[in-house]
Order: sequence, then structure tokens, then C-alpha cells
Amino acid sequence: MDVKVGIPRALFYYRYYPLWKTFFEELNTQVVLSDDTTSKILDEGTKACVAEACLPVKIFYGHVMNIKDKVDYLFVPRFTSISKKEYICPKFGGLPDMIRNSIKNLPPLIDTEINLRKSKKNAIKAAMEIGSFFTEDKRKIKNAYKKALKSFGEFDEKIKKGMLATDILDRKFNVIKKSNEPLLNILVIGHVYNLYDSFINMDMIEKLRKKGAQITTIDMVEEDIIRKNACTLPKRMFWNFGSRAFGSTMHFLEREDIDGIIYLMSFGCGIDSFVCDLIERKIRKTKDIPFIILTLDEHSGQAGMDTRLEAFIDMIRWRYRNEDNVSAYG
Ligand code: SF4
Repeated sequence: MDVKVGIPRALFYYRYYPLWKTFFEELNTQVVLSDDTTSKILDEGTKACVAEACLPVKIFYGHVMNIKDKVDYLFVPRFTSISKKEYICPKFGGLPDMIRNSIKNLPPLIDTEINLRKSKKNAIKAAMEIGSFFTEDKRKIKNAYKKALKSFGEFDEKIKKGMLATDILDRKFNVIKKSNEPLLNILVIGHVYNLYDSFINMDMIEKLRKKGAQITTIDMVEEDIIRKNACTLPKRMFWNFGSRAFGSTMHFLEREDIDGIIYLMSFGCGIDSFVCDLIERKIRKTKDIPFIILTLDEHSGQAGMDTRLEAFIDMIRWRYRNEDNVSAYG
């Protein structure tokens, strides 16, 4: 029987799953995913995790609990950096240790470090180490990695063309409600796990679509454009997420097809509190565009989310209908 490798459906699952799936399958293992996030997964994760952790990390714990007894290995890579001279949030680096120290009866963890801060070539080194859990055939591992990169490239290409990761991963496709009102284009800035886990964001994407809005994300912007815009900051951003969020937002501010911007923020996230403030100031200075911050934590309620989304979309539509009748002086 195939060796089973468990992947928690959380954090960077929403970015790298196509790469990981192809890689492990090419090494003749069976990939097992945890279930979609539920309140049970959140409760178990919250109980097992330290109280100070952010919601996405607590949910990751819950996914580990959900899957740990069904697999031979658990894939919890130690992400340090995914781009040159930039870092990922330190919680990613400490994740395998945090998990080991707080959850009992775990299968062996594959906790290889992914650190591309100095060179992208470290990715192949990490792949060789991960592959060595299953085979000694180095050529086979290299080939598996090549195919995995191809799968990731195809996935990323679809995202750059405007698809959402969950539409590709779950094979659901854009169902934007048709209405008499014009279609709105809403830019959502946020970590992939906040944007795509419909439990965390209380089905935000579907709610916006039902209100006749299509979603644009920061991942849809080409890397060179992001870098060019991020360079306008007086100092290089330390965090990968920060420079991507800033660089992409600046790009969208130059375009005329964005009707409103939502920043989806994790309560207790140091990176978000810094990046959100920076982006908000820049938006307010640059353009008169509706902007809202939605903060997510385990106590966020459906009703609060619904009301804020509804008010945001209604306000944008109201402006389009009545703007010309409102005095420039208020
Ligand atoms: S970047 Fe923020 S939301 Fe993401 S894991 Fe780190 S603290 Fe949590």
C-alpha cells in the first residue's frame, strides 16, 4: 500500500498545494488532505494552541488534529523565506516545533526548512531532503520536483489570469450573481489563508459574488510589477507578504477598474498591523476609493461580517448612482 502523506488544509496549502501534490504523488505516495475547516477543527486547534497565536495558526493546529491519525507522515515544512532577502512570518518557522510540543501521538513530521533568502537554488536542496523520506533515487526526486514546478506554474498562470485559488483547487467556477446593477471589481488584500478559507472569512467571496462583485487579489499581479512598485518604498520591506501586498496595491491604484478595496486582517498579526496601516495611508493619499478593513478572529460573527460587506457594497453603488448630485464640499 502507498505511504500516506498528510497535508493540513491550512496556511500555505492555498498557495503550494498543486506543487506539493504533484511532488509527493510522483514519489508514489498518497496525499491525504484534512477536511474543510469547521467549528470543530477551530475548537480543537484553539484548545491545543497557545492563546496568543493568530487565528490561521490555531486553525492549522485543528487541521493537524483532524488528519494526524490517518497518515504515515505529516508535512509541516519550516518556512523561513520564499524570496531573496525577505522573510516569512516567524510563526511559520516555529510551526513544526510548536506542533511537536503541543500535540501528542503525531506521525513523523516532514519539517524540512524552506529558506530562499539567499538563493532560489535552496528550493531544490529542500526538495531533495523531503524526497529522501521516500526514496534514495536522486534522479527520481529531481524529476518529481521538475513536474511539481510545472504544476505550480500552471496553477500560478491561472491565478495571474484572474482566477481564484479555490476555484482552481475546488474546481468551482465564478458564479457572480447577475443583476441590473453594474458588475463591481473588489480588490481583496490579505494572506491567502484568510482569503480562501471560507470558514475563516465567513464565506466572504461567495457573499461578494452574490452581491454582483468579482474579486481581484494581490496574487494576480506579475512579480516584476510588484517588485518595481515595492521599490518606491524608502526602505526595502523585510516581509515577503508586505512587499507583495504593497507592490500589488500600488499597481491597482494606477488602474481605473477597481471599485473598492478590502483589507482582510488577522487579529493579533504583527505583519498585518504594520502593512495594513502603511497601505491604508498610501490609499488615502493617492485615490478617493472606498476602503474597508475587516478583522478576523475566532470571535468574529457572521452577522457583523454580513452587515459590513453589505454596507460597503451598497455605499459603492450609492456613490456611482448619486455622486454627481453631491456637492464637492459635502
Ligand atoms: S503572518 Fe500573521 S496571520 Fe500569518 S501566520 Fe503570521 S501572525 Fe498569523
